[in-house]
Parts: sequence; C-alpha cells; structure tokens
Amino acid sequence: AHDTTIYRLFADQTLSRPDAPLFELPDGRTISYGDTADIVYRIAARLRADGVTPGERVAMQVPKSPEAIALYLATLQVGGVFLPLNTAYTGAEMRYFIGDAKPRVLVCDPERHSEYTEYESDLVLETLGEFADGTLLSGDERDEDVYDAATAEPAAILYTSGTTGRSKGAVLTHGNLASNCEALLDAWQFTADDTLIHALPIFHIHGLFVAANMTIAAGASMHFLPKFDAEAIIDLLPKSTVLMGVPTFYTRLAKSERVTPELCSSMRLFVSGSAPLLASDHEAFLARTGHAILERYGMTETGMNSTNPYDGGPRKPGTVGKALSGSEIRVVHRETGVPLPDGEVGIVEVRGPNVFSGYWQMPEKTASEFRADGFFITGDLGTIDEDGYLCIVGRDKDLVISGGYNIYPKEIEELLDGHPAVLESAVIGVPHPEFGETVVAVVVPRPGAQPAGSELLDFISGDLARFKQPRAVRVVSALPRNVMGKVQKAELRKQYADLFD
Ligand code: ATP
Ligand code: MG
Repeated sequence: AHDTTIYRLFADQTLSRPDAPLFELPDGRTISYGDTADIVYRIAARLRADGVTPGERVAMQVPKSPEAIALYLATLQVGGVFLPLNTAYTGAEMRYFIGDAKPRVLVCDPERHSEYTEYESDLVLETLGEFADGTLLSGDERDEDVYDAATAEPAAILYTSGTTGRSKGAVLTHGNLASNCEALLDAWQFTADDTLIHALPIFHIHGLFVAANMTIAAGASMHFLPKFDAEAIIDLLPKSTVLMGVPTFYTRLAKSERVTPELCSSMRLFVSGSAPLLASDHEAFLARTGHAILERYGMTETGMNSTNPYDGGPRKPGTVGKALSGSEIRVVHRETGVPLPDGEVGIVEVRGPNVFSGYWQMPEKTASEFRADGFFITGDLGTIDEDGYLCIVGRDKDLVISGGYNIYPKEIEELLDGHPAVLESAVIGVPHPEFGETVVAVVVPRPGAQPAGSELLDFISGDLARFKQPRAVRVVSALPRNVMGKVQKAELRKQYADLFD
C-alpha cells in the first residue's frame, strides 16, 4: 500500500517488536526499536516546544549517530520537513542553505554552536549530543502524539550533490519516501532478518532514504559506522547480510587480502550506487568474493529508479537494471524529446510515485524539468540494451558536441583507464574556434607512473574515430571532486576553457 509513511512503518515495528535491535554500534552498544522510540518522543517534545508546526523545516548538521536518525524520525512525527545538511558545509555554504530553506530549527553539533549564533535571530539553534550522556536535545518531556501526515505532504528537503552546479533543494513527500522504500524492500527481499552494514553518510539519499529507511521499515538492524572504514567493514562481514555502498567501497574492499568467500558466507547482497561502478571493478569483486554486486540507479529528486535483479535474471556489469515496480523509465531524443528505440542514446526520463514534487521555491526550474505527461527529465544520458536493462552513459551536461558530432566522454575515459599508467581520467569538452567544442583528456597517473600525453593518445587512437580523439591531454595529480566524491567536470571545464583561444 502506498498510503503509509516511514514514520508509521517505524511505529509499527516499535509496537510489535520493541526489543528488537535497530542500531549496533562500534562500541558494542545496541539500541532497540523501543529505545529509539523513547529518544524520538523526547526530541519530538522539544521540537514542538521550539514551535515546529507541520510543514516547517528542521535543519540538521551533525555527525552521524543514532540520535541523528532519532531527530529525523521525530521531525516526521511532528509533521516537520527534515533537512539534513552535509557536515562539511561551512560559512557561505551554510548561509545559502539556511537562507534558502528558512528552517524553524537548526540542530548542530555542540562543538559548532558558536559558529552558528549568527542565525539565532531567525531560528531556534539547538545542539544534538548523545542520549547516554544527557547532551541530547531534549528535556524530560515525552510527546507521543503523531501528526497524521498525508502522502502528498512534504517530509524532507534534500539538497542535490552540486555536481553540475549549485545544489538544489528537492522536496520529497511522505508518499515518495514510503513508496520507494517498499519497492526496494520487495526488489531486494530485505526483511527483519537482515543486518545491514551502514557506512554511508546520512545527509544524502543513499544513506538516509535507501539504507536507513529500508532498515527501519523492515524492522531489521544495522551496524552503524561513523564513516567508511574498510577494516571495520571487513570485521563486520561475518556478522551481517547486506552492504550498501558507493563504488569506491568496492574498489577498496576488492584490494584486501582479508576479503574471501568464506568471510562473506553470511552476506547475501552487496549493493552499489550514487556513481557508476566500472565493469572491471564489478569483476574484481566477483573474483574475490563470489558475489555479483547489484548496481542500482537513483538521484535525489527521484529516489531509486532502477535496479539490477536480485534474482530471476543476471546482474549485468555496466548496467543499472530495470525500473522498480511502480516506476517507468524511458529514453528520449535530447533535442526533440521523442522516445527513442532501444539501443539509442538519449535523455533518461522517469515517472512514478517516487518522483519528487518539485525544487524548493524554484517553480520555473521545476516546470522546465517535467514533461506534460508527468515524466521527470533526469539530465542523465542512457540507453536501453537488448535485455531491457538501462545503461547510464553520462550526464547530458557533460556531453561534448564537436563539429556537430555527439561525443560521450565515458567511451574515451574507459579506453584511457585501460592504460597501465592511468589511475583515472576525466574527458571534457572545451570551446574551440573551429569545432565549437573539442575534447580534452585530464588524466591522473598511477603512483610512480609518468605517462606522456602522446603515448596515451597513441594507445587509444586505434579504437576511436578521429573526431573523438582528445586534442589535448593534461596529466594532473588529482581530479576535483565534490563532497560526495563525484568528479566536478564543470570545474575542469572552467580550468581549461582557454586552451584553444
Ligand atoms: P547536482 O544535481 O546538484 O548536479 P548530483 O546529480 O550529483 O548533483 P545526486 O542527486 O546526489 O546529485 O546524484 C544523482 C546522480 O548520480 C544521477 O543523476 C546520476 O548522474 C548519478 N548516478 C547515481 N547512481 C548512478 C549509477 N549507478 N551509475 C551512474 N550514475 C549514477
Ligand atoms: Mg543531479
């Protein structure tokens, strides 16, 4: 049923199995569903005392902790709109998010309280410490009254990662969160018997609305790690059933001699998403563990759109599978918007109960990203393969158009990455007087290697039409990345804009 909410699913678990563990912490503590509810009720009382009414934003910028999840649930309980902010944001960034979202309450880390007193004239500044040591934001009051939220009401504003420009606030409804969570539970057969390794940040869709929501809704438990730590994850593998991670988790784990099929014998599922997983990394992990990583595709605005199969079909490296039940995916011509036959590359569009209600206070931007028939224009380029699986080819904004030809950076990056001296690469388009744009390759060498640009060009030229061959190669020590670890091509384009002036 799509009329439930994440809060109701949590309340059901709390009522039926209060003693079941929800959090397993690195220090050995376990926090049950009932314990969590107790913290949630205390925070809810405080939020109501702070004047939070339904629809008002509660912003949070605190390190990952069970208390932070309790604050999320308490916000939903009182009908507030949860606004998690990356802990890396400071100064001007925070001013943008606070000024844009205008929260009623900002909850920060006690250590950063003095940084944020400037906001106190506009909002209630709270700090979130630990329940155990009495520094939790709460008094002795408990409030068990639950706001009866409708599915169309907003539950959260999540800012996009800011890979292609300034982060936009995506307004997600209770219906968005609950329907996507239920579709994922079903697709991945995730149940109360599962124990998840949770090593993702909780200010992003992956860690909060995939990993944490699924655990809570299923009545499962999670090993709650403060951050990615390969050794800590490896220690937990024998005590867990599922890991959800970004591609770098898997490249790191595949390098460890400690990771073996025996160590993974209780594991039933490894999920990857947020960024493309290289087919070679999929294969390396399979060779080491015997497990085929399940790759899925989603974004802040839509939650999860597609997934490789849990069973009933192959998990195909380099693809992101098929639409989740209830959601639709199509690929359209990037200029005309006309749906394309399978096999052709175009813009990926999605429709379903998972798709957000709009960008926060950007009605024009929202309108321009939706088609009249309700499909959302993701801005990603993709193609549907012969088995009906979606393959993401890159972002529309990163497409290079040179002399009228479309060039997909991914094709060139994959060839460059195949050179033994190359660690990673980013291919971009820069202005060119004759061709409009031309291709530039930015390459990070493997430690100790010093590849010459000409050598790399020779290596790939046999596999590339002339118009796709980079006109310049720049060897750099690192690629610019945003806080989610995604390569910022806009930054690179700026850096090399004048190369062919
Ligand atoms: P912004 O919208 O602010 O530029 P962003 O798009 O990186 O930032 P997110 O919503 O966090 O912000 O990321 C969603 C994007 O991540 C997708 O649109 C897609 O480009 C990429 N992505 C997610 N999962 C995958 C995947 N499995 N394979 C390839 N790309 C993926
Ligand atoms: Mg985006």
